[in-house]
Amino acid sequence: MMQITWRSLLTLLLLLTLLSTVGGRWLLNSLAIMVGFLTIAPVVGVWAFRWWVQRRILTAQCPTCATTFSADRQGQFQCPNCGEILEVHNNRFVRPAPPGVIDVDVQVIE
Ligand SMILES: [Zn+2]
Repeated sequence: MMQITWRSLLTLLLLLTLLSTVGGRWLLNSLAIMVGFLTIAPVVGVWAFRWWVQRRILTAQCPTCATTFSADRQGQFQCPNCGEILEVHNNRFVRPAPPGVIDVDVQVIE
């Protein structure tokens, strides 16, 4: 009778140790994941933001006065130097084609 109680107590203790070890590991793992996430998230965020900005903003030269500046790819904008109305076309700043004019894509070999 005494032996059975001792054995069951030992089994219970072993089970508890195993559970606490697994629980401790799980806690440590989730903590490590959280710390890792908190470390990586701002880096990924900054990288994603830069990628987004680079996708949206283009730095190129004005076709009129050759001033290099950055502008939003969406819509039309003015050159800060000569005030020429420009828009982005094929990663370059171009003067928007007046309506009715057929836009011929000239490939320049550089
Ligand atoms: Zn200009």
